Amino acid sequence: MEDHKEAKQVLIVDDEKDIRDGCERILRRMGCKVFKAPRGDEGLRVLTETEGQISIVLLDLKMPGMDGMEVLKRIKEMDESILVIIITGFATIETAIEAMKQGAYDFIPKPFEPDHVRIVVGRAFEKLRLTWEAEKSERERRRTLLDLDTEKSRIRTVIESLPNGVMVTNAIGQVVLMNPAFLRQLDLDPGRTPGDQTAAYVQDTGFCELAADISHGKYSDSDEIPSYETALENGKYFQVRGKPVMGEDGECLGAVVNLVDITAMKELDRLKSEFVAKVSHELRSPLSTIHEQLALVLKEMVGNEAQDQHLLARAKEKTGGLITLIGDILDLSRIESGTIRHDPKPVHLDDLLKSIVDFLGTRAKTKEQSLVLELPESSLPTITADPMSLESIFGNLITNAINYTQEGGEITVSGDFSEEPDLGRMLRVKVEDNGFGIELRHQEKIFDRFFRVKNDKTRFITGTGLGLPIVKGLVDSLGGDIRLDSEPGKGTKFTVLLPFEAGVFTS
Ligand code: ADP
Repeated sequence: MEDHKEAKQVLIVDDEKDIRDGCERILRRMGCKVFKAPRGDEGLRVLTETEGQISIVLLDLKMPGMDGMEVLKRIKEMDESILVIIITGFATIETAIEAMKQGAYDFIPKPFEPDHVRIVVGRAFEKLRLTWEAEKSERERRRTLLDLDTEKSRIRTVIESLPNGVMVTNAIGQVVLMNPAFLRQLDLDPGRTPGDQTAAYVQDTGFCELAADISHGKYSDSDEIPSYETALENGKYFQVRGKPVMGEDGECLGAVVNLVDITAMKELDRLKSEFVAKVSHELRSPLSTIHEQLALVLKEMVGNEAQDQHLLARAKEKTGGLITLIGDILDLSRIESGTIRHDPKPVHLDDLLKSIVDFLGTRAKTKEQSLVLELPESSLPTITADPMSLESIFGNLITNAINYTQEGGEITVSGDFSEEPDLGRMLRVKVEDNGFGIELRHQEKIFDRFFRVKNDKTRFITGTGLGLPIVKGLVDSLGGDIRLDSEPGKGTKFTVLLPFEAGVFTS
């Protein structure tokens, strides 16, 4: 039924004018729009002309011309939903009953009181209102269902066509959806159906644990979810990223796990490291030769022209810088590619620190700086680590402290133990200076390759910007951690934490 029918429009078909007018008055007071017809055929014409606007017809059965029963039949043929109320004299009550069997809605016997008409017509409108409402909500329900259906198939199409693998689990960790890319990436049968725990489809335990943790609601904050890398037997690398699916009440309904193929990236990274290693290797030997030759020439030139000597000295300095740079690049590429050869030996950390401080003390003295080593009374334990790596770590940090501290500054190196909330008991070495310090905005980039702070104080200090990345790489490879505290104008403190229990000898 159309909405426009919801206006109250009534047609009265009766040959008695008094009845037509009487009913019209009553209905108008009820807020209805009224149409009147003295004969059956005219009533039908009004219905046709008003094009479905009329929803109730008051119909007299006994009229000249077309009989009321015939009019009723025609009305029902035109529009089944029109409610026809029969107006009839007592003598024809049986006919009225017959009319109701034929589809009339109710009847009003003549003579009638205005209230009677009001009640019957009011009831008819109530019935129509309920019918319209039911039809409206049915239409809305169908539309919602259709929308949902369209939405569902749209989302499915999107997920199916994603180039990345997508797996969805429920709250108990069962896989409920895998897109074709996911099946392809894991070399699973394309017809493989979901329904089992993740471990049934993926061998990697780290992957399965991550998916299970997210599904069980371990991470309320998505930012805390670690990303995970996995290497498959087929030689492919994937980055696994997951997010929880939250319900309306904030409960975890499961997880969406996304698989990104990073094989090409990994390969590129490997090639890059390989390339850097090769180039550095190729560059270092000839440069070293030039360096040696220049040194020789310079030696033989003592007493010769001062200008030439100056130029050659500059050349020697430059080649020396290049050799350091290449050496640093080489070290870094070895550390990053994991090919650094750690040669772990028992190392007395006290002795190692003492010898570095002694060695660099001469350099500190040229800047009139004090370089002090503070050690606990009971000596530090002997740790098993690669001494070259340890020398490189502390050598770099102390050299930096000397370089980036003004003349007459103070540098303190100290060793002790520390109970770290996240790492447990660790060996701690601090390299502290009261030098230039590092601005907060530079602090997060300080371990990036080639990063150097450029300001009036550092402009004339030579360096490669690779020292700290090397230090960080080495500390990481030893299973330790490095932390920085610094304030411009006040000084800098680097704290190196090394695993205490792993590799400790009691000497
Ligand atoms: P390099 O010393 O060769 O420039 P590094 O990687 O060792 O490279 O250090 C990067 C930058 O960090 C330095 O250029 C310097 O600006 C800053 N820096 C390092 N150590 C200190 C320190 N102790 N005090 C102040 N600045 C420092």
